Amino acid sequence: MIPKRANRLMVGLMAALMTVGGSLVEASWTETPGCEANDRFVLLAHGGAGAGDLPLDTQQAQIAVLHQALHMGGKQLQSGATATETVARVIQMLEDSPWFNAGRGAIPNRAGFVELDASIMRGRDRNAGAVAAVRTIKNPILAARAAMEQSDHLMFVDRGAENFARTQGLELMSPEYFLVDPNSARPSDKKTGTVGAVALDRCGHLAAGTSTGGYTSKAPGRVGDSPIIGAGTWADNRSCAVSATGWGEFFIRQGAARDVAARVEYLGESPLAAARQVLASIRKAGATGGLIVLDRQGRVAWPYTSRGMLRGMVDETGDRRVGVMEEMR
Ligand code: ASP
Repeated sequence: MIPKRANRLMVGLMAALMTVGGSLVEASWTETPGCEANDRFVLLAHGGAGAGDLPLDTQQAQIAVLHQALHMGGKQLQSGATATETVARVIQMLEDSPWFNAGRGAIPNRAGFVELDASIMRGRDRNAGAVAAVRTIKNPILAARAAMEQSDHLMFVDRGAENFARTQGLELMSPEYFLVDPNSARPSDKKTGTVGAVALDRCGHLAAGTSTGGYTSKAPGRVGDSPIIGAGTWADNRSCAVSATGWGEFFIRQGAARDVAARVEYLGESPLAAARQVLASIRKAGATGGLIVLDRQGRVAWPYTSRGMLRGMVDETGDRRVGVMEEMR
């Protein structure tokens, strides 16, 4: 039997879902058994480290899409959607936008085709899913989520990932779909634009996800930190949810996302202090980047060491903030 309060939330959720992008989004109430929903929710999303290097009109286009994604995700969380559902939907929206280096419009590798990486993790039980080096999956984040929820495996790569996505009924596109028509956008000047999101839902659960096309002139088959659980993505209700962006090889060697969570969990550091320590260590090793971090109390951080980082947040107050260069505490 569904408790009355949850039942009310479910009605709200279904109503809201009918309006998300015009299509019905699958509800995932089985994820939060016994939830005593409260009003509190927080959503952070990023559009990649180094955004300060992009032309202003590209930045403005990205900012506008990030606002839309936060608006949609905030509404979803308000209606009682889970953190996992929201992170997946927000990232899906950013993947569908040609302005980001994820999904459609991702940066091609040095052989001229797009290879995509994505991962998702939920904090309630530390379940996770990932795909890497995929060429035809329209929304890699949905394939990552399907790997988490519908498979005994955690990570699928290359053709195996594409076959798995097909069996899950996910949309596959031709490789050309991802190479955006230069008349509709200007992907040629885009060297950044990895996307990620972290969320705290009204049941008090965390989730994190990240999606990318990697970086300019990467070799075919190269996989970065974004699909690596513990490097580019981490979520654990006992500590925090983290999504990273930056030079992936360095984030993998640092175990960046897990490192932030470990500092929060074992040292009792704030998300901001932990994220700054990890970025400082990566910088010392020779690379820059940024992190978004959110803990169960709703404490947030989005520091970066790159030339700017596009990121934003929304919470239950409805206040939406998006910035490229500003510091947030
Ligand atoms: N971390 C991504 C990668 O190395 C790139 C980025 O965040 O800009 O694939």
